[in-house]
Amino acid sequence: MSDAETRTQLQSIIDKHAGDPTELLAILKDAQALWRLVTPEIVTLLAEILDLPRVHVEGTATFYHFLSGTHAGTYTVYVNTSMTAEMAGLAGVVKAFEDELGIAFGDNTSDNLIGLRKTSCIGMSDQEPALLINGTVFTRVTPDRVRELVAGMRARRPVHELVTPSNDSNNALPSIHAEVTNNIQLKGPVFFTEYDLGSGLKKAMTYDSLDVLEVIKASGLRGRGGAGFPTGAKWGFCRAAEGETRYLMCNADEGEPGTFKDRVLLTEMPELIFEGMTIAGFAMEATHGIVYLRGEYGYLREHLEGTLASMRARHLLGRGILGTHFHFDIRIKEGAGAYICGEESALLDSSEGKRGQPRNRPPYPATSGYLHEPTNVNNPETYACAVKIMLRGADWFRQIGTAKSSGVKLLSIAGDCPRPGIYEVEWGKTVREVLALCGAENVLAVQVSGPSGDCISEKQFDRKLCYEDLSTGGAITIISRERDLLFVVRNHMEFFRNESCGFCIPCRAGNQLLARSLEKIMVGNGTATDVKDIQRLGHLVMSASRCGLGQTSPHPLLTTIENFPEVYAARVRKDVDYESQFDLAFAIADSSAAAHRLPLVESHVAAAGEE
Ligand code: SF4
Repeated sequence: MSDAETRTQLQSIIDKHAGDPTELLAILKDAQALWRLVTPEIVTLLAEILDLPRVHVEGTATFYHFLSGTHAGTYTVYVNTSMTAEMAGLAGVVKAFEDELGIAFGDNTSDNLIGLRKTSCIGMSDQEPALLINGTVFTRVTPDRVRELVAGMRARRPVHELVTPSNDSNNALPSIHAEVTNNIQLKGPVFFTEYDLGSGLKKAMTYDSLDVLEVIKASGLRGRGGAGFPTGAKWGFCRAAEGETRYLMCNADEGEPGTFKDRVLLTEMPELIFEGMTIAGFAMEATHGIVYLRGEYGYLREHLEGTLASMRARHLLGRGILGTHFHFDIRIKEGAGAYICGEESALLDSSEGKRGQPRNRPPYPATSGYLHEPTNVNNPETYACAVKIMLRGADWFRQIGTAKSSGVKLLSIAGDCPRPGIYEVEWGKTVREVLALCGAENVLAVQVSGPSGDCISEKQFDRKLCYEDLSTGGAITIISRERDLLFVVRNHMEFFRNESCGFCIPCRAGNQLLARSLEKIMVGNGTATDVKDIQRLGHLVMSASRCGLGQTSPHPLLTTIENFPEVYAARVRKDVDYESQFDLAFAIADSSAAAHRLPLVESHVAAAGEE
């Protein structure tokens, strides 16, 4: 293709996005879809046409899993390597693809027709092994199904013809068209129940906007993404911040392996999320809402856009909502495969078309968020709760759950249990009660909140899921006694190593070193000293990393060493042990002095020395 043709096609993609530089990621995704790669020439042209520094465009183009500098295949197959996929037979699926095509993952067929790639969790932990082909989701894939898919791709059939459409609820809509089921196993009073669309917003708009804030505060609602920050207070900070435009972000980038609750909420009750955002917009006097939708959930985009359009038609969004002077609208921005973008400041940068790297904080998003304007970031589940709180009152919500954890929580349960899926439970349920709900037996361990959370043993199964005890963003992954726990830990450490944004060395290098030490133990060469070194390095990584990823990434190792010491004791060599002569604290102090970074690092050395 000539340069002139490339320029013309690129210009039409840019025009589709109104030439908006904050849409750079969407433009790059369209370029990737058209050419199956993003070449240096495309990067240069984009920089020129959008009047952006080339390094900015290149930085974005090289950051995300779903953008590729080399041809990704006319059909790009992304299998996800999450632990739940491994549990469900991923190895057989990988082998079937490789045998059928005669290539390894990471390669393309010689004609570039099919490219095989691996990626992190795609949010289908309840129906693994799952994969994406050009963005379309295929679930419960078997080796036989792989052979069918390969035959279909070789016959150059459109991807939508390869899908066996789901007949499950909204998943059956033509606007979704994927092999996904909801698996809603337990409904409660807040989500997945019939309600009169717009009724929560109408009720909210009978109040003064400040009073809506007070109702949310009185309800005790806390952020459902995992951190549990009080929602009313957060909304108050954003409302009080000065700026030209106030933004609301909905963080629909659930990327923690084992988490899929937002997928089901977005599929079945998107209007509940959007109405909650509009109530929040009214309370904060904001005018712009943005849903940051993880790239893996791009298959829901048409469905979500349709819901937004029908809400606009009913004057529940847009200008003059419900005939008043309140204007608020919502648009969708898609990610492109990067777990770190679930971190709220990385999400903001990604939304602006940049690399999804965490920002330094302060300033916090409430005062300097999207485009450095006051911004509130909440999880979809948090916004959805606001609707029912407005309808049924703060007291009603507060009476559900525990003293410091009001309301209900959506759990994504997966792994070794007969009934994986979504459970709406009151805060305060014990882990043992949750295991009984999903029929899990012979349980060795439960990974609470995904790899960044805690891996607990049976001794802790009577702990309660709530902010006072065992806080969770919702992922519950069950590991049976038939599993090799270290295999699970290795999968989780590889996940963090692959998903580190690479900005800071403790996270970038530390996770790799931790994964290597674990490997040493797994192949039979580890000693008790290696286990101690893992603990020491793990705490160093946590204390010296810049954002939540590095601050939690050693958890799979540290919590299993703490809760399952016998597993490690059984795997280390007893015939030999040696104390390393390498002094980590000294080495860090020495290299820090050389880099003139003593004030920053001294505290880390001290922290390392305490271990
Ligand atoms: Fe990036 Fe890891 Fe540092 Fe976070 S801790 S900024 S993910 S390198």
